[in-house]
Amino acid sequence: MKGNPPSPESDFSELGKTWLKRGKSAKDFRSIFMNHLSENVFKCFEMHSVPNSKALINEQKCQRMIFLPLEYYICGEDPIIGLQKLQSANSPSQLCGKVFKNGEPTYSCRECGYDNTCVLCIDCFQKSIHKNHHYKMNTSQGGGVCDCGDVEAWKDGHACEVHQQGQDEDMDEDPVSKLPGDLLVRGSAVCDVVLKYCIDLICWEKTDELPGYLNVSCNEDIFATMLFNDEVHTYEESGTSGPSRKPLKCRVMHHKVIAHQIFAVQMLGWLNKIAVHSDGLRRILCNTVLESKDEDTDLLGRVLLADSTLWKVARAHTHKLFMNTMFMDPVGKKAFAIHFTKHYNNIQKDFVDDDHEHIVSVTSLSVQLFTVPTIARMLILDHDVLEVILGSFMDHLRPAINDKFFELLKCMQGMDMTTRKTGRHIETEPDWEAAFSLQFRVMPVYTLVFDWCASDVSSMCYYK
Ligand SMILES: [Zn+2]
Ligand SMILES: [Zn+2]
Ligand SMILES: [Zn+2]
Repeated sequence: MKGNPPSPESDFSELGKTWLKRGKSAKDFRSIFMNHLSENVFKCFEMHSVPNSKALINEQKCQRMIFLPLEYYICGEDPIIGLQKLQSANSPSQLCGKVFKNGEPTYSCRECGYDNTCVLCIDCFQKSIHKNHHYKMNTSQGGGVCDCGDVEAWKDGHACEVHQQGQDEDMDEDPVSKLPGDLLVRGSAVCDVVLKYCIDLICWEKTDELPGYLNVSCNEDIFATMLFNDEVHTYEESGTSGPSRKPLKCRVMHHKVIAHQIFAVQMLGWLNKIAVHSDGLRRILCNTVLESKDEDTDLLGRVLLADSTLWKVARAHTHKLFMNTMFMDPVGKKAFAIHFTKHYNNIQKDFVDDDHEHIVSVTSLSVQLFTVPTIARMLILDHDVLEVILGSFMDHLRPAINDKFFELLKCMQGMDMTTRKTGRHIETEPDWEAAFSLQFRVMPVYTLVFDWCASDVSSMCYYK
């Protein structure tokens, strides 16, 4: 390879240096980076046909060509050294906040936990006082976080030995103020540009064109049929759909759209990594997520409302990003809770209409918010959260009871009727079992409906 000039693929630091020189302002960086993505995302994209047809992003290539130069640009030097420096500037963490993987053990203490949602990861548990208490071990379904360090989760022993060290730190210090000035400017530019790109792309609806700020020139127009799998089909079954199941979403998409969408998901994972490295960058990310884009929706609102339409991996990555950034940051968590409450009714509606399991839905994050006493109190006092939750519950109940339930009663009226026959002897008795067992099962519901009608006169007038 001697004598070859460094190409972006072989030498990310050259690229990082160029960006440092030319991307002094956020605006300059934005245009440099968008050009870079327009040119290079496609080079990391691969379509495979064996063993299954699959579109993917080559992780090593995108690491070298996109993520490493970005890290170089943020740090202003080799990221191996730079990220280390950032990490050592972090305040000792007060919270563990480890996000559980599916199947990972969790520990709760029957003596000290405020409720049974308060759990510890194995590392924290073993360094805590609870290992000598009356504890319970469980297996996580994935998605929850370790509550070590959260004073609101434990009556006693709220932090393990490691996270106790962070408890004496000043909570009110803004972690952003510790970042060197030029790093702050570049870090903010990167968070802003990258996050907006990722969210634009994962929420992108068009199948044959990309957002206007990308300038992707393709020599070939290749289209692929993308089949969006759900929770009930296996890969083999996905071409067919069962009798009672909705057909799978299926779209014909240009390969440049597929490439950028898959890459955006990958890039959310990269943002996660950055947030874990530095509490300063984490706060910048929080602020970017909350920053208003236009009058009615900010980035967070957009993601919350699009949740049920996102791919499963995109959901998993955005939720993880929320937990690694906003939930680890006292200011961010409060702000997230307010947004979540504001959009609660719509999020629940989307969830009910969707076929995915609760665990992959953004609604599953409610347990991280509504069970925290100070957040719950704030939401009840200032954001009418009780009214919001009950209202949303009743909204779902009402159509179900009035429309579907009475629809069912209508069908049952006169079902399997025994009619009087004359003139001829009936050899076999007519079928009555179905009507009988249906009636038998619906009976307990009548009592509930009667009680409900008696308690609220307006409910009786609802059905037309
Ligand atoms: Zn932990
Ligand atoms: Zn801990
Ligand atoms: Zn305990």
